[in-house]
Amino acid sequence: MIRFENLTKVYRGIKAVDDLSLRIPPGTIFGLIGPNGAGKTTTIKMMAGVLRPTRGRIYINGLDIAKEPSKVKRIIGFIPDRPFLYEKLSGFEFLRFKAGLYGMKGNRLDERILDLLNLFELTEWADELIESYSHGMKQRLIIAASMIHEPKVIIVDEPMVGLDPKGANLVKGIFREWAGEGATVFLSTHMLALAQEVCQQIAIVDKGRIVASGTSEDLRKQAGVEGDLERIFLEITRGVATSENV
Ligand code: ATP
Repeated sequence: MIRFENLTKVYRGIKAVDDLSLRIPPGTIFGLIGPNGAGKTTTIKMMAGVLRPTRGRIYINGLDIAKEPSKVKRIIGFIPDRPFLYEKLSGFEFLRFKAGLYGMKGNRLDERILDLLNLFELTEWADELIESYSHGMKQRLIIAASMIHEPKVIIVDEPMVGLDPKGANLVKGIFREWAGEGATVFLSTHMLALAQEVCQQIAIVDKGRIVASGTSEDLRKQAGVEGDLERIFLEITRGVATSENV
């Protein structure tokens, strides 16, 4: 379970995230969508413990990030929008390095790494240097690395960046499987078709505030329009701009 309570982040007088309250049950793929500057990355960075909220709280599986940051970091996997990779390591070495950060070692670890490389279709490249990987392979490796410690919650900013349709399909399947086993996937994206396809719950944010949330069907009702998520999104965010202009 992920819970935000009045989550707020102010940067030099500007409210990037404004009083966000939300509950996301386990086993859910949740999508945060919104226009540029809506506060998505700021929200994700606060969840990952990279940024401190100005006000409000985030609970992950009942743990308050502000009070128990180390425990929370052990149960989350975080994939930032601009991840860092040690390009002079091989894929295998990178996963072993990442595992070391969580204190994982022993024979079972090598098995876990090989399983992950296999899952993300990187087995053939396991011993090649990351610098020789394509953009999509790097993205798959980053997602694999975020899962090394079997997190209960995966937080991912723009998961499909750089992935070709086959890679995107693979990752979508893995997220679904992971959520099916009870994990929560929290993703932020501009790809509305992706959100529509994989997310059971969606929140639309604009100027730091949630302007609509629920299933695609709930959002359709709130927008009062028929059509796909893009149509709903445009209607809802247009509504916000219009009411503010009046
Ligand atoms: P995008 O879709 O363009 O990535 P976003 O929804 O992720 O946008 P954020 O990056 O969270 O939005 O930014 C929200 C607001 O906070 C914007 O107005 C942005 O200019 C501002 N902001 C973000 N980071 C900082 C910072 N370090 N200092 C000051 N303002 C910031």
